[in-house]
Amino acid sequence: MEHRKDIINPSPIYENVTTTVKLKGKDVKIHGLCVGTVAVKTTFKTKRGNGFLSKINILLAKYYTEYMPIWVWVIEHPEGLIIVDTGENSDSMEVDKYLSKESWYARYQFKNACTVKIGRESEINKQLQKINLKPEDVKLVVLTHMYLDHIDGLKYFPKQEIMVGDFEYIHPDNVFKSILPSWFKPNKLIYKADKIEVFNEAFPITQAEDLLYVPTPGHTLGHSSLIFKTEDFDIIFAGDSSYDQQQVLSGELPGANTDYIKTAETYQKLLAYAKLRKSIYLPTHDANSGQRLLNKSFLI
Ligand SMILES: [Zn+2]
Repeated sequence: MEHRKDIINPSPIYENVTTTVKLKGKDVKIHGLCVGTVAVKTTFKTKRGNGFLSKINILLAKYYTEYMPIWVWVIEHPEGLIIVDTGENSDSMEVDKYLSKESWYARYQFKNACTVKIGRESEINKQLQKINLKPEDVKLVVLTHMYLDHIDGLKYFPKQEIMVGDFEYIHPDNVFKSILPSWFKPNKLIYKADKIEVFNEAFPITQAEDLLYVPTPGHTLGHSSLIFKTEDFDIIFAGDSSYDQQQVLSGELPGANTDYIKTAETYQKLLAYAKLRKSIYLPTHDANSGQRLLNKSFLI
């Protein structure tokens, strides 16, 4: 559905979800928490035109998508509580103030590409409270990439270990550095060879090597996803590898993207992996990611 910015529907409610999976005979809980919503230009979600034109078409487009969720995934792993990305915070709704230390053009681009909606009660600390957890309980925060809708909850985790890909950290695309906390010094992950089918390279997040950080470049050059190998199936916490599952199945490329060729290759790898191992595919902004996790519905 398409909407003019001034008449986008109110943000749909995306209910938090909780499910249980098996890991070596033990129950492990996984939660999907909706930490804000974001509506983007239709040409931001779906590529129109080639090369530079596809970028211009984002700024020029009139219409926005429906508000999409910003999912944060919480894994009650036996080795400790792990969260994937941190969602938005409500300060980001005042773009001029929030991005005041960024360039005029950066603010212009941001304001003409997307619009964020989140109240204080939906920030990650409050969402964790709703499932009887608190930020201090978190052992590890893993970032798929460093766009603001994935890092804006970092402020709640000053004492926690934070991990991000080495390449993403050193060569960030479109990252607003002024909003990173001053204490932000993540562990930078370097993939290791021969760790997983299809993707080959991965960094094992857990000692059990059941949670793997795999390269899924395209959205950013250093973008990664997490693959959780449970007893019965795999779960792919896909960040912004695509905006929704349908894009991977149909090969539709997103407009906001650093490298379209790499995105197409990432789609092929995701499909090849899902052919080998039953996989639930969970992009951050897919309205149906929560339901697919609950219903255990696989990519293919
Ligand atoms: Zn995102």
